[in-house]
Amino acid sequence: MARTYGFDTLQIHAGARPDPATGARQVPIYQTTAYVFRDADHAAALFNLQEVGYIYSRLTNPTVAALGERIATLEGGAGGVCCSSGHAAQIMALFPLMGPGRNIIASTRLYGGTVTQFSQSIKRFGWSAKFVDFDDLAALEAAVDDDTRAIFCESIANPGGYVTDLPAVAAVADKVGLPLIVDNTSATPFLCRPIEMGATLVVHSTTKYLTGNGTVTGGAIVDSGKFDWSASGKFPSLSEPEPAYHGLKFHETFGPLAFTFHSIAIGLRDLGMTMNPQGAHYTLLGIETLSLRMERHVANAKKVAAWLEADPRVDFVTYAGLPSSPYAERAARVYPKGAGALFTFAVKGGYEACIKLVDSLELFSHVANLGDTRSLIIHSASTTHRQLSPEQQKAAGAAPNMVRVSIGIEDADDIIADLDQALAKATA
Ligand SMILES: *Cc1c(COP(=O)(O)O)cnc(C)c1O
Repeated sequence: MARTYGFDTLQIHAGARPDPATGARQVPIYQTTAYVFRDADHAAALFNLQEVGYIYSRLTNPTVAALGERIATLEGGAGGVCCSSGHAAQIMALFPLMGPGRNIIASTRLYGGTVTQFSQSIKRFGWSAKFVDFDDLAALEAAVDDDTRAIFCESIANPGGYVTDLPAVAAVADKVGLPLIVDNTSATPFLCRPIEMGATLVVHSTTKYLTGNGTVTGGAIVDSGKFDWSASGKFPSLSEPEPAYHGLKFHETFGPLAFTFHSIAIGLRDLGMTMNPQGAHYTLLGIETLSLRMERHVANAKKVAAWLEADPRVDFVTYAGLPSSPYAERAARVYPKGAGALFTFAVKGGYEACIKLVDSLELFSHVANLGDTRSLIIHSASTTHRQLSPEQQKAAGAAPNMVRVSIGIEDADDIIADLDQALAKATA
């Protein structure tokens, strides 16, 4: 029997093979928009989806495909599709499932941009989201109605301090017969593999830890291949004849790859949210060191969070990796390799002290990003969340006295020293 490679091996090799034309060892950047057909019959077979191959880079590109296969492998999924951003991945994940009048049940604890996308923009498609506290499993189940088509949450949630009980949420999704979509951006497949816990689809912003170097925006969708799209009659895009493909039924034809083929043949073709090969290349380079970086991110986050919690200038720290966290037991059970590297803390002195802290830090960068090798900080109340009311800010974990940090992989002592000197100035 062939050996099953471990995560460290797969993050380097999955999806990549020496270039058949040149033997190039690293995945080449196939900087091309189109691919020559062998002959007219070949072209016809490709357009009929009777043969798999490259037609046009809005649909597929070899560099981008290598990344899609690598992410799918690391997540333990049947197929993966890359797209232009994490937000694009979310729309692409919902697209085959939804229709006018349909809704999703979404966790209240989501990345701010996702809250906006789900509460405002998707309404323009006639879709809607009901936000529920996913710690209340009875409320989650009760929110499902005949028009619900998916359940959506993050594994380790942004802005941090909260971890979802994925096996428990997946059990509810299973009971009501709906796909569970998990945004695994903050955890990455190194810390969490949602498909093993019952998720149907996994979405990523590859902009963050998967690329890991703050160079490109990108996204990905991984399908477990395990959901029966035909059983309920609720997913006609996947189970019924597709008029744009001569009545082809995706689920019947492609089985566990139905969602993946639909995402390429219909989603990328008609929505055009495509990842470019140069972007895929940067992410392929970054992902080779994912496990090494995540181990260091987690080790540093634990040290920094513990130091902050013990500091009298800090009111409290919300990090699920701290023994004092209300989610410590769940974090250890569901995320045994660590609770990520993203958390918030409250500074004594409130809004003004937070502003001073951010301005006094030298090693930390003040940016609206996360998951970089560098340590990052943002004062959400004066930036990303400044349009919200104080009550909304508090509910979003972005109260005026709080800052969010994304702990990098520098020396932990240097990160702590920088926070120490800036806290001194902020609270003087
Ligand atoms: C950044 C982020 C997104 C959005 O991804 P983009 O690549 O910025 O579009 C979605 N979910 C989470 C958890 C994120 O951190």
